[in-house]
Amino acid sequence: MNRFFSAFILLVSLGATHCVFSFHKDQSKNDKFTVVLDAGHGGHDPGNMGNGYKEKDIALQIVLQVGRILEKNSDINVIYTRKDDSFVDLYVRGKIANEAKADLFVSVHCNSHSSSAHGTETFVLGLHANERNFDVAKKENSVIYLEDDYEVNYAGYDINSPESFIGLTIMQEEFLDQSISLAKSIQDQFTGQLKRVNRGVKQAGFIVLHQTFMPSVLVETGFLTYKPEGAYLNSSKGKSDMATSIASAILKYKAQVDENVGGDFSYEVKDHSLPSTANENSSVETSAGVTFRVQIAAGSNAIETKSYNFKGLSPISREKEGAVYRYYYGETSSYEAVKEMQKKAIAKGYSSSFVVAFKNGEKVKVSSVVNSASN
Ligand SMILES: [Zn+2]
Repeated sequence: MNRFFSAFILLVSLGATHCVFSFHKDQSKNDKFTVVLDAGHGGHDPGNMGNGYKEKDIALQIVLQVGRILEKNSDINVIYTRKDDSFVDLYVRGKIANEAKADLFVSVHCNSHSSSAHGTETFVLGLHANERNFDVAKKENSVIYLEDDYEVNYAGYDINSPESFIGLTIMQEEFLDQSISLAKSIQDQFTGQLKRVNRGVKQAGFIVLHQTFMPSVLVETGFLTYKPEGAYLNSSKGKSDMATSIASAILKYKAQVDENVGGDFSYEVKDHSLPSTANENSSVETSAGVTFRVQIAAGSNAIETKSYNFKGLSPISREKEGAVYRYYYGETSSYEAVKEMQKKAIAKGYSSSFVVAFKNGEKVKVSSVVNSASN
């Protein structure tokens, strides 16, 4: 199959998968912050074997320790894509995270290179800016060839083709800010606490990151091919250091998310154009194709639309306009019903909440679609 064609098929098939998952995203399911920890490789895929150190074992031991630290927090739910030396297909790893409706996906790996390159780097999904980033992704992606049905599951995807990655970023785009924030936090821990060489936060086309529908990062903890670093990562101190840093970064990230929920929203000016004579009980006529939602908040941070992030209100939807995310509660074609929802939002503490109207998907002035019968 030619490269462009296979890239297209990949996008179609992966895109379809994501639609299914996002459709099923239940906003009120669990109240715990769910972290999926993904130890790279496993089973008949050892990962890289620089200097004889085994990536799959080091990654697993780091991940298990990260999990043990996080599990001490009663409001965190930890899920592992593997807890032993087993082989897990890349798309299955994403599926586990999506089905858990996780808040974070963290994949842990060790790097390799023929040079004496060393240091830590954390990736988010994106277009690789250079050949070096592409090489890292290519190596990690090559595991699909060890999977039984990779032709079916990845639709003839060609890991050697840079074109295959174009468009891979689309589904992760809405989580990019959060993914970068976590990646930065992880790198800060590695360099600040552990004084590891910092290769930075980078973007590249990792298949495993593309499979998830939540903020996701892939951590390269260091190069096994660089002897001193390989020996460190293989030591119990090295693994414990890396695990502690990754866990601290995740806890920091969670604290940031928690904080943003309480405040830090810039409230917007209400739509005052609705005639004030339209009191709560007056009957109103609305135009066809119109729906209403209650805007409860807006801000520059993308926050998961889970009800626990919004004082128990559900359903919550989020839309991005320019640099601003807007958060809406409810959706109904009845103006009476939306006014009730607004009362509920106000009672929950969103005192500045207001009704927003949409006509055929476009935001319109409430006054343009509501005619008060008492007017
Ligand atoms: Zn790896």
